[in-house]
Amino acid sequence: MPLEQALERLLSMAGQSPVVQTQRVPLAQADGRVLACGLVSTLDLPPWANSAMDGYALRLGDWTGEPLVVSQRIQAGQAPGPLTPGTCARIFTGAPLPEGADTVEMQENAVVEADQRVRFIEPMSVAQNVRPQGQETRVGEQVLAAGTRLGPIELGLAASLGHAELTVVRSIRVAVLSTGDELVEPGLPLGPGQIYNSNRRVLCTWLQRMGCEVVDAGILPDNLEQTRAKLAALNGVELILSTGGVSVGEADFLGIALREEGELDLWKLAIKPGKPLTFGHFRGVPVIGLPGNPASTLVTFALLARPYLLRRMGVQAVTPLQFSVPAGFTWAKPGNRREYLRGRLEQGRAVIYPNQSSGVLRSAAWAEGLVEVLEGRTLEEGDLLNFIPLSELLG
Ligand code: AMP
Ligand code: MG
Repeated sequence: MPLEQALERLLSMAGQSPVVQTQRVPLAQADGRVLACGLVSTLDLPPWANSAMDGYALRLGDWTGEPLVVSQRIQAGQAPGPLTPGTCARIFTGAPLPEGADTVEMQENAVVEADQRVRFIEPMSVAQNVRPQGQETRVGEQVLAAGTRLGPIELGLAASLGHAELTVVRSIRVAVLSTGDELVEPGLPLGPGQIYNSNRRVLCTWLQRMGCEVVDAGILPDNLEQTRAKLAALNGVELILSTGGVSVGEADFLGIALREEGELDLWKLAIKPGKPLTFGHFRGVPVIGLPGNPASTLVTFALLARPYLLRRMGVQAVTPLQFSVPAGFTWAKPGNRREYLRGRLEQGRAVIYPNQSSGVLRSAAWAEGLVEVLEGRTLEEGDLLNFIPLSELLG
């Protein structure tokens, strides 16, 4: 199955089960969340014309070239009286323009004469260095659309409009299950044949960044009874996200248990890493089963599960930013699956980590992005390919 088709299916399913509940949260807790309704400005921003410079405010029409008397001093935070005609006002950055003034000259272009009058030494144009009322936004304008992911900038914008709280989409509850008899949690000793569970940490941390409520369901042994018991104990979750056990299934107990009480599709994705992916339902709760190899987990989460979750949280724009860069490596053997190589940019060219094994998470720690090599393609150095920054995907 081509990636696009899998994504389309997932997104259409996500569209059928959006999180509809909303909640009010203080700005300090809104990072990573999704705005539930458009944010409409109740203010003009700035609320009044103000000075963009430290200098002098005047009505340009009053200026004949002769020095002007300074009739008042206005600092940020003060409310000035009207400007006395034929004079200027000392003014500082962010201070309101006095009524009657239309121009600000910066102090560097002003000379204070012996009699304290001020001479302006450069030609001026009307409205220079003035930030007009409402130049950023007007009352009634929508500044953020519903479905916007909130980050430092959006939250700052909301703060600039005086909002202490925002209405966001309720967090989606996601259970994370790591399947595999070989898995041990860090902190415990490793027995023979065992490895530490890394996928759990990757996914739980990633989901938290995305504003999800994570139900860490721990390790699921490769055992049907325990799998049934674990699934039955998952209450109130809205997605079950598992890793491992999805290759053709002798040890696919999750698959067996899910089929008993729901349905499960196995998709063979035409991507590398990350060929097998399952999608199904358990007692009505959607289940996404990601492949267990750490780089496969990462790539399939980034390209499929993440957009699926974002869409359920009400985000429309789920396609990550990507851009075209010249290859800094060659690719001689065309593949029959699309590859997402872990790479970085060096002098503007994409280079790849030497070991692209799907078991090697270190490749992704080294990488700055996913380097896309289309199926059937060979590459010479300098050929253009798509680069998806990991920074774009990891939130
Ligand atoms: P599986 O999909 O269960 O066949 O697993 C594929 C490979 O990924 C095996 O080498 C597993 O040991 C490894 N693996 C599966 N789950 C994890 C995990 N949570 N953390 C680290 N490696 C894993
Ligand atoms: Mg396994």
